[in-house]
Amino acid sequence: MVLLMMEIEYELSLLKDLIEIDTDVMKKEGYSDCASLIKERMKELGLKVDVFDPNLADGIKRPSVVGTLDVGSEITIGLVTHYDVVPPGEGWTKPPFRLTLSDGKAYGRGAADDKSAIAVSLGAAKIVRDDARFNIKILASPEEEVGGEWGIGYLMQDVGIKFDFGIIVDSMPNIVSIGASGIVQGEIKVIGKQGHAGYPHRAINPVHELSRLINEFEKFIKMREEKQSSADAPPGSPKKKVWGRLSFTMLGGGIKENVIPSEAWTRFDMRLLPEEDPEEAKKEMLVFFDSIRDFIKGFATITFKGTDRGYLTHPTNRFVQSFVDSTRIVFGEPLPIAASLGGDDGRFLANEGIPVVSYGTIAEDTNFHGVDEYVYLKDLKNVRDVFVEFIKKR
Ligand SMILES: [Zn+2]
Repeated sequence: MVLLMMEIEYELSLLKDLIEIDTDVMKKEGYSDCASLIKERMKELGLKVDVFDPNLADGIKRPSVVGTLDVGSEITIGLVTHYDVVPPGEGWTKPPFRLTLSDGKAYGRGAADDKSAIAVSLGAAKIVRDDARFNIKILASPEEEVGGEWGIGYLMQDVGIKFDFGIIVDSMPNIVSIGASGIVQGEIKVIGKQGHAGYPHRAINPVHELSRLINEFEKFIKMREEKQSSADAPPGSPKKKVWGRLSFTMLGGGIKENVIPSEAWTRFDMRLLPEEDPEEAKKEMLVFFDSIRDFIKGFATITFKGTDRGYLTHPTNRFVQSFVDSTRIVFGEPLPIAASLGGDDGRFLANEGIPVVSYGTIAEDTNFHGVDEYVYLKDLKNVRDVFVEFIKKR
């Protein structure tokens, strides 16, 4: 353990300083201080540093820091991180904004998600700066936890940051993720006829009718589950390949126990195959909805609310292959390649045509977004070393 701590001394000291700045995405107060810290540490390593801010009308600073190591290579690798964190919430046994070391773990809000990513990315740059085969750009943005539009989205779409291969350092240390599922969200509403609960025969109860509609949707969910991606699902999944999923996640309606309400609603979240076109998936859902909407009394509507396209980087891409080979050097055998079941910021890169993988220090059990978030010290070393192997001259 002492040896391990010596090997990651730089990463731990940087992580400590990062955690001590409260960069709560809801308050957005620590952004400038945190960006300044990252900028200083990048300069110490000899990186060229640029800071970009979308300067929104609300006057809040949202600085994104980009540190570049230019070794004269024709190829540039992007390491994408974020420095905002979700609020700590209640019930911590350790101070959320201080680094606590215990049992081979480092605790603190953002210890895993995603301040450790900044620490290992700079740590890797420190080791390879005189011996790199690629140029490196390290991106550290805010606003990831609220969708990334004004962080990584702004850097890629508006500033026009370019590189040849990207690594979203905001993911797990035991798989190399090459894609993420697209998302379609929306609402189904049933309009009935309001009335007295003592006289249900005079009303049309939208609560009952909606529940019948949701039952009918089991068929559609089964149909979606039959769909298979070309990409493997992460280890531990119930299916070998990434599959289609749909969940009803919110439910509402009614004002009082003795009043049959006039309407009831539910919201859904449909997860697509990484390579699937969201518009096609919507069409499919509409066709199914039209086939069952008349099964019920009352009037049923469907509205789509949010759409995110998924992405899939080809597993035979030469950078993906070389990255996986770097995991072999560090771990003795190559890590599995799979697509993520959740979403990730790779879409901002994929949208620009940049091949991308996700890989990082956020192990499944690290309580990210929960209380007592931590990162394993061994993962700080391993993930940094994978980056070093990938970037250094061979
Ligand atoms: Zn994150």
